[in-house]
Amino acid sequence: MTFDELGLMPELLKAVADAGYTEPTPIQSQAIPPVLAGRDVMGGAQTGTGKTAGFTLPLLQRIARHANTSSSPARHPVRVLIVCPTRELAIQNHENVKMYARYLPLRSACVFGGMDIKPQIEELRRGAEIVVATPGRLLDHLQGRSIMLNQVEALVLDEADRMLDMGFIPDVRRILAALPENRQSLLFSATFSNEIRKLADTMLRDPLLIEVARRNTAAETITHHVYPVAAALKRRLLAHLIRSLDLKQALVFVGTKFGCSRLAHYLVREGIAAGAIHGDKSQQQRLEVLEAFKNGTVQVLVATDVAARGLDIEDLPNVINFDMPHVPEDYIHRIGRTGRAGKPGEAISLVCPEDRGRFAEIERLLKIRIEAVTVRGFDEEPASAEPAGRARHARGERDAWGPSRRGSRMPPRAVPPRTGPPGLPQPRPAADGFDWSKPYEPSPLALAEAATVESAPLPPRRGQRPVAALLGGLGKKPS
Ligand code: AMP
Repeated sequence: MTFDELGLMPELLKAVADAGYTEPTPIQSQAIPPVLAGRDVMGGAQTGTGKTAGFTLPLLQRIARHANTSSSPARHPVRVLIVCPTRELAIQNHENVKMYARYLPLRSACVFGGMDIKPQIEELRRGAEIVVATPGRLLDHLQGRSIMLNQVEALVLDEADRMLDMGFIPDVRRILAALPENRQSLLFSATFSNEIRKLADTMLRDPLLIEVARRNTAAETITHHVYPVAAALKRRLLAHLIRSLDLKQALVFVGTKFGCSRLAHYLVREGIAAGAIHGDKSQQQRLEVLEAFKNGTVQVLVATDVAARGLDIEDLPNVINFDMPHVPEDYIHRIGRTGRAGKPGEAISLVCPEDRGRFAEIERLLKIRIEAVTVRGFDEEPASAEPAGRARHARGERDAWGPSRRGSRMPPRAVPPRTGPPGLPQPRPAADGFDWSKPYEPSPLALAEAATVESAPLPPRRGQRPVAALLGGLGKKPS
């Protein structure tokens, strides 16, 4: 299928060609015709599937039919509202809107928190048919009357499940109350919980359900590995894996902002170019570290779930769960950043005994058994009670799921390298020449590290990155 066959207008086809897309992604071929026809849509799609163009292109076409070329702000009321959970996603969506609308006489604006509100007020005053916003700041603008939403024709709620996780649903309901009842509504979510369905019931009318990946499933091109480890050794194991597996670009997830900064700092002290991205970083810092990660100056980006939401990073090969996510669905969100568009990706989880319950829930959700890989010096004592453990011992292998040794500094032990069962992920040999006989001494700085962590020196900021080939080869023009 081609974009022409989807019924898009020449101005949009030109913009799509400029972006380098030659064929629509599955969500685009499924969503564009019904959205063009004015239907409400409930879309099950993650970031990385091309969903933004899937809703933006048809909505632009719908409002372009009555676009106003007058320079008067009053002639440019908000007609499409795109609500996103995070600033990153809002910025990213706005970049897409600008790119696709470049040949149309439409104005757009992006409003999000954590930035001075005044320039946003100015931008809104000039008039914008398309507004991309995060919920909190949008409500600020509504309260301050710097935005009117009474002429909105279409609403997009992007990453609704994340809105729910972040506690934005009451804000979203307030926003819904400010919109005309007679409008088109689209809701996108990577996962569908009961709460999301409830929200969909209140905001969508006779929606068409479009799903590009099965619900609560992960891409099949992703290999999952779990490395059992004592909690106290996680950081050291992480540094070891980065070196020994020669991980060139890894996104590491941690549970808290504080932990995020601490871990990034530890890695920097270990000589690994790492940066941190979390909610307490300024917008400028986030953009800089993200750019450095994309261009390879920063090898490891340590992130909280909230900050990492919606990050679009080309062909990310590795995602590492340093802390287990609080809800198993977040595992899917996290690893959704790798294995995109059929490319291979690897999801690594460092699981200490305390994480085992959460990890089991993830396995249940994915309906797969993720085999454990043990690493010399980091594995735990064999479990005595587990049948699987007994079976492994009978085969002379070490079982990773031993009793908790939380807080203990486990001295390195001479353990013969394990060969996993055939067909399952095999431990890879350490290639770093690391001296394992040295006792583990966490650096005092790493332990005492508070919030301020900076990454390796950042390169000068580049211009806008090419957006053409971010779907990992899908629909790309041959270069
Ligand atoms: P999204 O899931 O909307 O965040 O899109 C992920 C990335 O894919 C973005 O960088 C888009 O520019 C890119 N993209 C969207 N549609 C296509 C397409 N049809 N062909 C190639 N790349 C695309």
